[in-house]
Amino acid sequence: MNAQLAITDLAPQSAAAREFLARRDHRMLIGGEWVEAVSGQRLETLNPATGSVLGTIPAGGAADVDRAVAAARAAFESPAWRDMTGAKRARLLWSIADALEAHMDELCELETLDQGKPLWVAKYAEVPGAIDQFRYFAGEATKIEGTTIPTSIDYQPAGKKIFAYTLKEPVGVVGAIVPWNSPLVLTAMKIAPALAAGCTMVLKPAEDTSLTALRLAEILQAAGLPAGVFNVVTGLGEQAGAALAAHPDVDKVAFTGSTEVGKLMLDAAKGNLKKLTLELGGKSPAIVLPDADLELAIPGAANAIFFNAGQVCVAGSRLYVHESIFERVIDGVVNYARGIRLGHGLDPQTQMGPVVSRKQADRIASYIAGGRADGAEVRVGGGQLGAQGTFIEPTVLTGVRPSMKVVREEIFGPVVVASPFRDVAEVPSFANDTSFGLAASVWTQDLSAAHRLAAQIRAGTVWINCHSMFDATLPIGGMKQSGWGRESGHQAMNNYLETKTVCAVI
Ligand code: NAD
Repeated sequence: MNAQLAITDLAPQSAAAREFLARRDHRMLIGGEWVEAVSGQRLETLNPATGSVLGTIPAGGAADVDRAVAAARAAFESPAWRDMTGAKRARLLWSIADALEAHMDELCELETLDQGKPLWVAKYAEVPGAIDQFRYFAGEATKIEGTTIPTSIDYQPAGKKIFAYTLKEPVGVVGAIVPWNSPLVLTAMKIAPALAAGCTMVLKPAEDTSLTALRLAEILQAAGLPAGVFNVVTGLGEQAGAALAAHPDVDKVAFTGSTEVGKLMLDAAKGNLKKLTLELGGKSPAIVLPDADLELAIPGAANAIFFNAGQVCVAGSRLYVHESIFERVIDGVVNYARGIRLGHGLDPQTQMGPVVSRKQADRIASYIAGGRADGAEVRVGGGQLGAQGTFIEPTVLTGVRPSMKVVREEIFGPVVVASPFRDVAEVPSFANDTSFGLAASVWTQDLSAAHRLAAQIRAGTVWINCHSMFDATLPIGGMKQSGWGRESGHQAMNNYLETKTVCAVI
């Protein structure tokens, strides 16, 4: 291992973040109370840049999930929540957004320390993205509407009519399970629509990055959410997560994470046939056509994979470039990679932080080694740096074949595989040659070609001359093994609503 990257431990600037971290041994929120795990066991949470222990969290398990689900069920049935009007829920969601904004510096620093991402990523993408979710779904809380339906039923008694309509009702108790790459925004993408719909919730954050979920729970509590409406059980996926996914009194699970664990959700949901939405992995292509504006496409393709150290579900991890410009684009991406400054997320000079854990870094390094062994050429990067080994150099691999593991599997790090192509007509066949279908980007000045390809690529999102553009208004989610359903945008409300038909003879 190369140890040339020296990282100094940096403390947060905000007094509130320092105060939160000084508590060290955090508790979880169940039924309005801050509690330990029933087992009394705890897990350490580390700063991935330095390996230092930031604090400990309860190692929740099945007994804690039972308590949390019971609290969420009681809250779901309590008049304080059940009878709250949409307008009041809207005001609550809006006030949560205001409170998050007021705590912006603290939340950004906590996310950076716990996850490793540069502070500017937390500040300009993650935390504002979370706030937007609360504001967007505050608006949805007052727009939950059924329809009246003229029927064709013609066997009613003489002189009678049919009056039929639909009601939209909250689905009930929701279990939310989220990963570690963008903890706060991915959590907000579930909480905001669920609360707007009138559901109650048990959140299981990722074990490596639970701190902002716990701070968020304090903010939700202070905003005046009735006890039990929002609960957090921290702990390991195979324990707390598995218990939540299988719980017989959970009506719906909203899961974001790997395709592998997403498939386990199907088995876990079977017992009570709970509803499922699954936001899973990807291996998204970035496709550069021969006429692309390279001033835009080169940094765009580089950012598509190197942003957040490649720990982005929609990362442009397969780069396809027309052969006429392949070497120019690859040189450009390689130079971009060389210029990226790795460091501690709180250092303002840092452009890329560590990946979330040593385990994840070793996993990425083994993919790079496997790619080399299979004959790929490492054009830049490939190294694992830092005293903890958690920094992965931005890496570009060429000379790859479609059958290689580095081309087929999600690496979830700053590693892109690049291939040339000859004919634009081939684009759909190689873009779609994957078991995933999360996203893609097309870089070209020929808008007709771009829109034709957007229709032919099997992915939940296709970007044109951009990549990783998110907004609370834009549905996000995957086709094929990238998942079921969409988050963000109007239709995300349906993830948390049931339709009831009322049909009366009048
Ligand atoms: P992961 O699947 O390992 O874990 C996700 C969550 O599931 C964590 O909270 C974990 O504790 C929990 N978990 C693990 N095993 C479990 C089990 N047996 N039962 C119940 N819960 C369990 O994923 P990760 O490594 O934390 O995150 C990276 C993955 O997330 C990548 O594949 C990435 O593409 C995906 N992701 C997808 C989206 C999207 O919107 N499609 C967004 C972000 C991340």
